[in-house]
Amino acid sequence: MTKDIASIEMPDEKGWFGEYGGSFIPPQLEEILSDINKAYLEITKDPAFHEELNMLYRDFVGRPSPIFYLKNLTEKIGGAGIYLKREDLNHTGAHKINHCLGEALLCKKMGKKKIIAETGAGQHGVALATAAVLVGLECDIYMGVIDIAKEYPNVIRMKILGANVIPVERGTQTLKDAVDAAFEAYLADPVNQLYAIGSVVGPHPFPMMVRDFQAVVGNEAKVQFQEKYNKLPDNLVACVGGGSNAMGLFSAFLEDEQVALWGVEPSGRGMDDGDHAATLTKGTVGVLHGFKSYVLQDAEGEPLPVYSVASGLDYPGVGPQHSLLKDIGRAKYETASDVEAIDALFELSRTEGIIPAIESAHAMAFAMKLAKDLDKDQTILVNLSGRGDKDIDFVVENYGAKYGL
Ligand SMILES: *Cc1c(COP(=O)(O)O)cnc(C)c1O
Repeated sequence: MTKDIASIEMPDEKGWFGEYGGSFIPPQLEEILSDINKAYLEITKDPAFHEELNMLYRDFVGRPSPIFYLKNLTEKIGGAGIYLKREDLNHTGAHKINHCLGEALLCKKMGKKKIIAETGAGQHGVALATAAVLVGLECDIYMGVIDIAKEYPNVIRMKILGANVIPVERGTQTLKDAVDAAFEAYLADPVNQLYAIGSVVGPHPFPMMVRDFQAVVGNEAKVQFQEKYNKLPDNLVACVGGGSNAMGLFSAFLEDEQVALWGVEPSGRGMDDGDHAATLTKGTVGVLHGFKSYVLQDAEGEPLPVYSVASGLDYPGVGPQHSLLKDIGRAKYETASDVEAIDALFELSRTEGIIPAIESAHAMAFAMKLAKDLDKDQTILVNLSGRGDKDIDFVVENYGAKYGL
C-alpha cells in the first residue's frame, strides 16, 4: 500500500479510484455531467462558497458535532474505549444534511431552479427538501407508493417543507423504481434540474463531490480527538450503505496508516442471496447506476435483491472509493446482522441514553465486539450517523416483546 493510492487526492480527472468509479452514462448526459464537474471544481476554489457552506454547517446544522466518550458502555465491556462522533445531533437527525446542503448550493450557483432525487425510506428526501427550502430551490422527490404508505411521517415532513412528493406506481413500487423514475425525469430536463445523489455513488463527479461535502465529519473529528486526547483514535468504525458517512469520517485519516478503518455492512437475516446487503463482503465487480464498483449481482449482471432491517443500508452497490480501499487493504469491511444491530440499539439506549438510527446501530454492534478484543488503552471512534426517532415505531412493533416493551 502506498500513500498516494489511499490519498484524498483521488479520484483522477475522469473519476477513477484505481479501477473503480468512472462514468457509465447515456451520451446525452455526458456534457451535463461534465458541466456539473466543472462548476463543482470552480466553486471549491471560491472562498465565498466555503464561507457560505461553513456558516450553514455551523448555524443551521449545528456543527461541529461533538465527540462523546461512552464511559458506561466502555466500563461494561471492559476493553477499548468507545467514542462517538455525534452526527445524530445534526438538524434533521443524520449526516445526510451535510451533502444535501452542498448539492443544493451547487445547484443554485449553476442557475438551476429545481433539485430532484429519489428516496426509499424518506431520509434523503427530507434532508434534500430541507436544504432546498433554505437555499431557495424547487424540490421534486420520487418515491414508490409502497414506501409512501410505509414511511408516512417522512412523506408529511417533505410536504410540510414544500417539496413535491411524486408517487411512483410502476414495478415493485419501491426504491429501485423510484431511481428509474427520477432518472427519466432528469433526462427530460437536465438543464433546469440537478439530480442530487444521496451517497458516494453514481457517475463521476458524484462520489467525489458527496465525499468532499461529508469530509467535514472526519476533518472535525481529527482536530477534536487530538485536542481532547492528544492523539489520533486507533480505530474508526462506520456503517456502509452507499458509504457516505463512512467516507466522510475516513477521508481525513487515509494517510494516517496507524489508524485502522472499519466499514460495517448489513448481513441482515443471513448471507444467502436476498437476505443481506453486504456488497463488499459478497459482491463482485460490475457496473451499477453509472459507476464501476463491487455489486451484488447475478450471472447476467442484474442487481440481486437486497435486504436489511435498516432501509438506509439496503443497496446492492457501494461507493467506488470503498472498493479501492478494500482491495488495497487500507480499510476492512465486516458485517453486523439485524439481530446484532437491534441489540446494539438497545444497549446504547440503555447504557448511555442515546437512541441510534438502526443504520448506525450496525456500526455500534461491530464496535462493541471490537472493543472486547482490544486492550484498555486502545480507542474506537464510531460515526453515529443518525438518531433513532424515525425507527422507534418499527422497533416496538417488530422487536418490542424481546426488550420488555
Ligand atoms: C442513509 C443513512 C445511512 C447510509 O448511507 P451511507 O451513504 O452509507 O452513509 C447511514 N445512516 C443513516 C442514519 C442514514 O440515514
